[in-house]
Amino acid sequence: MALVSSTPFLQHARQNGYCVGAFNVHTLEMLQAVVEAAVETESPLILQSTVGTVKHLGADYIAAAAQTAAKLNRIPIALHLDHCADFDLIVKCIRAGYTSVMIDASHSPFEENVAQTRKVVEVGRAAGVNVEAELGKVGGVEDEIAVGEEDATLADPQECKAFVELTGVSTLAPAIGTAHGIYKGDPNIDFDRIQAIAGVVSVPLVLHGGSGIPDDQVRRAVSLGMSKMNVATELRIAFSDAIKNVFKANPSENDPRKYMVPAKQALREMAIEKMIVCGSVGKAKHFR
Ligand SMILES: [Zn+2]
Repeated sequence: MALVSSTPFLQHARQNGYCVGAFNVHTLEMLQAVVEAAVETESPLILQSTVGTVKHLGADYIAAAAQTAAKLNRIPIALHLDHCADFDLIVKCIRAGYTSVMIDASHSPFEENVAQTRKVVEVGRAAGVNVEAELGKVGGVEDEIAVGEEDATLADPQECKAFVELTGVSTLAPAIGTAHGIYKGDPNIDFDRIQAIAGVVSVPLVLHGGSGIPDDQVRRAVSLGMSKMNVATELRIAFSDAIKNVFKANPSENDPRKYMVPAKQALREMAIEKMIVCGSVGKAKHFR
């Protein structure tokens, strides 16, 4: 298969009460590990890269690797650009082959957010690409974007409704109390707010800051209408810890394959766990 837009499977997830994991990857091995997890669990998959990773590896290299994964496997795979405020970079990624993009103008006032999102929706529609936008501000640190606890604001349900109608966006990431990075205590998720937003907005909703949310809370958020969950930090930690362990045991190791194999294995297991909690296991068959 070729890379596909995530819109059809996220809509299916929304209608059928499950969620699709979107996994941030930074290296070829990370991408392969997540793909293997999705193949093993027969899950639809969203591969994600941040703006920082696009600058690090290049959109063409990332898209080529994701396209190869899609071609070699019988599961639907989308490639998503996470949190991007740069219109030109969004266009560049779509040209490179990305099938989903996030315009993040959540730092701007509502009208400005609407205007910037509409512009991307126009381009996305023409290219058959999923467009995600954010309302409210998700706290924590994601790549180069840092939002302090005092600046994190939750999304208002009526604003969400108006935003989706005004922009025609395919998926919406409302800030509902999760944060990027690892939580110090338990996350403070506003479940009533998820329910209220899902009650007035029919497009799939996106849960940002999926690392470290207890499984029962993820399931509850999914049951209330969250259809995509972004996971980044936990994957990086699993991957990096496995590499650290190799060097702890053998500081002179200099064959990348010797530390990449256990790192891939650790990441694969972590991704499988997330796919099980999301409820996406076995859902790939609906999209062949
Ligand atoms: Zn995010």
